[in-house]
Amino acid sequence: MMWRVVFPGWMCVHAAALSDCFQQPHICGVKPFEACIACEKGGSRGCCMEVGTIPDCYLKPHICGNDKWCELNDHVSWNETETTTRGRCLNFQERCNSCSATENDDNPYRIPGLIGTFEKESHSRPFGSYLERGTRCGPKDICTGDSIPVLPPTCVERRSLPSNHDSPSRQKMYEWGKRMMRMGAHNYERSRLDTGPEEQTAEGSTREEVHEGVNAILSGLWNPLLWGEFTPLTIESTYDELCCNWENYTAKLSSFQKDRTGPSYRFPMDPLAPEIGNSPSCVWCLFDNAYNDENPSIWSLVHALTFNLPLVLSERQFALLSSLPMWLREHLSCPLCRSHIEEHLIELGVPASRSGTDWAHFFWRAHNYVNEQSEVTRCGSQSCGWGLWETPESYNCAGVYRYAWYVPFPDAQKQWKVEIAV
Ligand SMILES: Cc1cc2nc3c(=O)[nH]c(=O)nc-3n(C[C@H](O)[C@H](O)[C@H](O)COP(=O)(O)OP(=O)(O)OC[C@H]3O[C@@H](n4cnc5c(N)ncnc54)[C@H](O)[C@@H]3O)c2cc1C
Repeated sequence: MMWRVVFPGWMCVHAAALSDCFQQPHICGVKPFEACIACEKGGSRGCCMEVGTIPDCYLKPHICGNDKWCELNDHVSWNETETTTRGRCLNFQERCNSCSATENDDNPYRIPGLIGTFEKESHSRPFGSYLERGTRCGPKDICTGDSIPVLPPTCVERRSLPSNHDSPSRQKMYEWGKRMMRMGAHNYERSRLDTGPEEQTAEGSTREEVHEGVNAILSGLWNPLLWGEFTPLTIESTYDELCCNWENYTAKLSSFQKDRTGPSYRFPMDPLAPEIGNSPSCVWCLFDNAYNDENPSIWSLVHALTFNLPLVLSERQFALLSSLPMWLREHLSCPLCRSHIEEHLIELGVPASRSGTDWAHFFWRAHNYVNEQSEVTRCGSQSCGWGLWETPESYNCAGVYRYAWYVPFPDAQKQWKVEIAV
């Protein structure tokens, strides 16, 4: 004889289930079909539940609330007479746990309010398909998908755009271009004391070649509709900068910036914040005379150029873009960054495409890859011996990031693509 026990709410459970179907899966019924589900939220004892009694969020979309999502599933027949689509409320994956949504889920074809996926390249799973046993990240997080080679698809905190983020005006483009003009000089191993911003000596290529290269890259990828005709940069335009070791520069640092890494200090979450924001710009006169903010400026320049390319590239633009990773490998002033270019950019697959969008996507992805393991992301305002043995293992996730690092493609587009008013 079978006893029926009535549980509060929607739970209708057989007495046999009190024996814990997690331990004895065979005790649940077959017709009507019963599923074995935790008796209490997060509990370790399983109760047999008639499938028809589990709330269906396809029929009642509101029931999942904010802390769960509704997974839709199609089935030719669930119970012989039932509808073909059902939905069940599932918990979001915790931060740092695995997820199954792909990078394309959020980048760039996510439609706000639509929780299903649209994978642009998959013809076998057209728009409107359902995730199969999907795992999704919470609203503050994002699934990296397979975009970061060293990380399996993982829920990570998304990096929000600061409200006063940089954007590509003509003046900014020239400011960032100046950083490029000072790349690739002798580094600190051959440092000389008492040099000023006017003195930079050659590392491999002559200084004149580097300057010519910068102007070739900028003039070839420049969008004149947005920034006007390109006027070549001159090195002389950088001679009025302050040296990072000069007193009239260090006097400009807040005590917070001084306490951290001085001219190197960066705060990616709000770079322009007073006191705790990025240190002001200067040039490293004791080392290679490069700018202290060369790295972020190079990214800004590359994103601004690539997000505003024509839909179809000219052959010259294609050649310039294809050479850019090698150019960075040779001329970036940061030796650690140079040593990673092969891994971070080249092995990612330099596009063979003439589509401007593909290049914007490539550098966006490469930048996220670098963000995931950059010294600033992992160590925050401290110097943590990057490149030495202290470097955290790349497979560590939880608790190792000091700053959120994953910038979704739509945010990158919002920051860098200039919309032309028609
Ligand atoms: C080619 C290159 C390779 C580098 N390699 C290394 C390395 O191996 N190790 C290391 O520690 N540092 C590396 N760096 C430096 C590092 O990437 C940062 O530039 C530096 O840590 C400063 O960080 P930031 O937070 O100030 O700004 P950045 O991360 O440089 O950001 C500059 C701007 O880009 C925007 N942005 C951030 N992410 C994206 C994205 N994915 N897509 C579009 N826009 C974005 C930001 O909003 C900001 O406005 C490299 C830099 C370059 C240019």
